[in-house]
Amino acid sequence: MLGARVVITLVLRVRAFRTECGDWSGAASARRLLMPARETEAIILKTFPLGEADRLVSFFGRSSGRMRGVAAGARRVKNRYGSTLEILSHVQIWYVEKETRDLVRIQQADLLESFHKAQSDYGLSTGLAVVSEISELILPEHEVSEPMFRLILLVVREVERTGDWSLPLSYFAFWTVRLGGWLPRFDRCVACDAALGVKSAFFGAQQPGLYCENCKRAGMKPMHAGARNLAERFTGERLDRIVDEEPMKASAKELREAALGWIEVHLERQLKTRGLLETT
Ligand SMILES: [Zn+2]
Repeated sequence: MLGARVVITLVLRVRAFRTECGDWSGAASARRLLMPARETEAIILKTFPLGEADRLVSFFGRSSGRMRGVAAGARRVKNRYGSTLEILSHVQIWYVEKETRDLVRIQQADLLESFHKAQSDYGLSTGLAVVSEISELILPEHEVSEPMFRLILLVVREVERTGDWSLPLSYFAFWTVRLGGWLPRFDRCVACDAALGVKSAFFGAQQPGLYCENCKRAGMKPMHAGARNLAERFTGERLDRIVDEEPMKASAKELREAALGWIEVHLERQLKTRGLLETT
């Protein structure tokens, strides 16, 4: 008898609560509670402090594309995310989509692969910052891109493995331009169509192509045949099989500078992190 009375009281209380809130919000919150967590392999692109304790996280999901989410409590000293939200970490991430906002709620992140050496070294982290900034600006939201996912992962692995960003970053910039479809011809002058052969080509800020000696403009920098050969190797060989020898450094730099310039032309803005490279 006593048990039955308790049940009745509870039912009345629940009814009163639902009337207060109205049926609409009751139904909406029930739907939200029922919404299942999604899961994807992801690369952390960037995080920003949010309020006192949280972090806003931009991540590139292998099966979700680029997304933004809130990691609640991630700024607290003791938090459940640990080092998983470091820049360019390779993680498995669980998140819940909300109906009313663009931000998802990040429930959990597990580290799949650690890039601790690259993330904690200032010199190496400048290379990672460039990869992060370009990816953040280039990748459209919610759009899956398997080639870009593999490219970023490969490049960060190589920075970690070799302890040097020079060749990996050249490879990243070159392939980003190539995948984006903005790669100019490497064998002919963009202005007069003359064959470049083994002669130097020239590139400049705000200019999307390679120029010959006759057409080059003031302030343009040379890209020697070696750098164009390296681009050829980048298209045909795996990055981890290309041995970074000393003479290649100059070629890698020329190719990287040109490709970063073409990325800036496409984005119609200057990369903030690019200047950091000169300081390391
Ligand atoms: Zn020309």
